[in-house]
Amino acid sequence: MQTQILGLVAPLMALVFAATFAVIWRAGRMKRHVLGFGIAFALSAIGFLVTHLLPADAFYTFHMTQVFYSLGSVIMIASVCERAGQRLHLGSVAFVYVVTALVLAIAVSLSNDVGPRLIIVNMGYGVMFAMGVSTLLTSTRRDIIDLAIIAVMVFQATDFLVRPSLTLLFEQTIPAQVYRDSIYYSLIGLVLSVKGVTNAVVLIGATIADWTKSLRESSERDPLTGLLNRGAFEQSMRELLPRAQAEGRALTLVVADIDHFKQVNDIWGHQSGDHALARFGELIGQMIRGCDTAGRIGGEEFCVAVWNCEGGPGERLAERIRKSFAGLAHTGLNDDIRLSASFGVATARPGETYERLFARADAALYHAKSSGRNCVQNAERQNSAEVAADQVRQPVKLRRAVSE
Ligand code: GH3
Ligand code: MG
Ligand code: MG
Repeated sequence: MQTQILGLVAPLMALVFAATFAVIWRAGRMKRHVLGFGIAFALSAIGFLVTHLLPADAFYTFHMTQVFYSLGSVIMIASVCERAGQRLHLGSVAFVYVVTALVLAIAVSLSNDVGPRLIIVNMGYGVMFAMGVSTLLTSTRRDIIDLAIIAVMVFQATDFLVRPSLTLLFEQTIPAQVYRDSIYYSLIGLVLSVKGVTNAVVLIGATIADWTKSLRESSERDPLTGLLNRGAFEQSMRELLPRAQAEGRALTLVVADIDHFKQVNDIWGHQSGDHALARFGELIGQMIRGCDTAGRIGGEEFCVAVWNCEGGPGERLAERIRKSFAGLAHTGLNDDIRLSASFGVATARPGETYERLFARADAALYHAKSSGRNCVQNAERQNSAEVAADQVRQPVKLRRAVSE
C-alpha cells in the first residue's frame, strides 16, 4: 500500500509541472517550446501511471510505458533544443525508438525477467538525451541558464545509461509479477521525483528569465520600427560615451530627420506615413553594424551611435542610408514619389555629455535642412558638407505631388 501511494508522487508532481508550464505559456504568450515542456511532463506522468496502475506482468505494460516516456522525452529534448535555436534531428531519434522497441519486443517474448527490458528501454532514453546534448552544444547560447540546462540533460543521459545496470547488480533477476516489490522499483520513484524536480526548476527558471528578457526588450523597442525607443537609446548612449572614452575609441552620433514628412501624412494619410517610417527604421537596422546602436527618438527623427568610428566613416554611413532611402518606393504613395531625409553627424569630444553631443549633431542636421535637405552635414566641417547630386530631383518630385 505504501509503495502504491509513494509511486504516485512522481507522476502527480509531473502533472503539476505540466500545468505550471501550460499556464506560463498561455499567460506570457510564450513560444511553443514552453508548451512543449508542459506536454513532455504530462506524457512522462502518463507513462509512469501506466507502469504503476496496469498489471505488471501484462506484455503491453512495458510497451505502453515506453511509448509515453519516449514521446515525453523526445518532446522535452526537441523543446530544449528549440529554445536554444537548434533543431533536433527527429529522424535519428525515431530510429533509436524503433530499434529500442524491436529489441524490447524480443526481450518481452523471450523472458519474464524485467531486468533486460529495463536496461533496453533506459538505453534508448539515454541515447536520445545524449543526442539532445550534442545538438545543444552546437548552439552559441552559453549563459548560466543555458549551461544549467545542458547539465540537466547530461544528468538525464548519464542516469538512463548507467543507473539500470548498476541497480540490477544488486538484483540479478526481477520476475514481472513482483516488479513493484523490487529494489529497482522503489528506487525509480525517488530517482524520477528528483530528476523531475531538478528538470522543472531549471526549465521554469529559464522560462521566467526568457519572459523577463522579452518584456524588457519590448519595453525598450519602438513597436513601429523595431529600433530602440528614445529612453533606451539615450540610456545606451550614456553607457557608450564613458566606455568609448575609457577604451580610447571614437563614437559618432548621426541624427536623421525625414524631409517634409508632415506633407506625406497630409496627402497620403497617416497609415502611409507609418509605412514609410517603418521602412526607414528597417533600412537603418539593415545598414548599421552589430556594434552600432540605432533608435527612433521622435516622430520622424532617428539616431545612430556609430561605434569606434570617426566623423568620416560615420558620415559615409549616413550618406549610404540617405542614398538608399531616397531610392525607395513606398507603400501607399504615388509610384513616382521618393522621400528623402537629412542627416547631422558629430563625433564625441573628450568628456562630452550626450546632451552636448546631441546638440552639435542636431545643429548639423538643422544646417542640412537649411542647405536644401536630402543631404548629410558634419558638425566638424559644416561648411564643406556636400549636397547630394539627387538632392534637387527628389524633393522636387515630392513638392510636385504635394502641390497637386
Ligand atoms: P522637415 O523637412 O523640416 O523635417 O519637415 P517635416 O514636415 O518632416 O517636419 P515637421 O516637424 O513639421 O513634421 C513632422 C511630422 O511627423 C508631423 C507628424 O504628423 C509626423 N509624425 C510624427 N510621428 C508620426 C508617426 O508615428 N506616424 C506618422 N504617420 N506620422 C508621424
Ligand atoms: Mg522632425
Ligand atoms: Mg522632418
